[in-house]
Amino acid sequence: MPSMRAMVLGAPGRPLRPAELPVPPPGPGELLLKVLACGVCRTDLHLVDGELPDPKLPVVPGHEIVGEVAGLGPGVEGLAIGQRVGVPWLAWTCGVCRFCRSDRENLCDQPLFTGYTRDGGYAEFTLADARYCFPLPAGDPVAQAPLLCAGLIGYRAYRMAGEAKRLGLYGFGAAAHILAQIATAEGREVYAFTRPGDMAAQAFARRLGAVWAGGSDAVPPLPLDAAIVFAPVGALVPAALRAVDKGGVVVLGGIHMSDIPSFPYRILWEERVVRSVANLTRADGLGLFAKLARTPVATETVRFPLEAANEALAALREGRLQGAAVLVP
Ligand SMILES: [Zn+2]
Ligand SMILES: [Zn+2]
Repeated sequence: MPSMRAMVLGAPGRPLRPAELPVPPPGPGELLLKVLACGVCRTDLHLVDGELPDPKLPVVPGHEIVGEVAGLGPGVEGLAIGQRVGVPWLAWTCGVCRFCRSDRENLCDQPLFTGYTRDGGYAEFTLADARYCFPLPAGDPVAQAPLLCAGLIGYRAYRMAGEAKRLGLYGFGAAAHILAQIATAEGREVYAFTRPGDMAAQAFARRLGAVWAGGSDAVPPLPLDAAIVFAPVGALVPAALRAVDKGGVVVLGGIHMSDIPSFPYRILWEERVVRSVANLTRADGLGLFAKLARTPVATETVRFPLEAANEALAALREGRLQGAAVLVP
């Protein structure tokens, strides 16, 4: 049986370990994919740190997968060997619960998630349910990888921010750097909030089209129509509420966040809204990739070999990355 290299999480709180695993055969409806690149997402850090409940263990992390179809399971139609596809976080949904039946499969009662409750892309090969993959155009797979989660979650959060003209982005990492380009291309004004004093990140944000960039403790020059908080820092929620105008919405884009401190009712008053965004739907993916076909974005990436997954995670944890870390097997 052929084998493949993979990086495996055996238990939360432990580093990933390199392993030789059998190349899995595709089951009904599944694709066997040769992984060309796999992005490293903050959710992977939460997984490694034990902040997500009930992972499959051991598990191969990674849910920003750019792959090439290397095998077709029984019943797969419309895809061919050699075709390029992307695999996102949403790996499978039940199709019958009340959320699935009301166009909210992101909230499915019994979902499976790539690189969390099924094996992901920190490997040379992976399996994916063909119905949850997105066809991708040719191009640099490393540049495409961050679109599969940072891009998708950013896009869903952007949709939830509504028609905001003045849009604040708290935490200028992988998601924000993609979204800033989309929002700017659509005529929005982007206000970027970084760690206080992080002048490099602020310059990066301005370079990608932000009309203003400053520390997360700063007050923007004008009240915002909406803000998206990508950093997993609960203290940013009242800060963002203070920055948005009447009727403004604060969208929380992370899967995990430190506790939100209490705040006075008056900063929520006047119909300000705080909401989270969970996962994605396939419709989000189709919407994003259709948009990117018309308005390409440039992703900033830092490439690591597969075996350096622990180093990539450490760099993300310490805020040392400008752009997104991507593993290449
Ligand atoms: Zn469901
Ligand atoms: Zn992610």
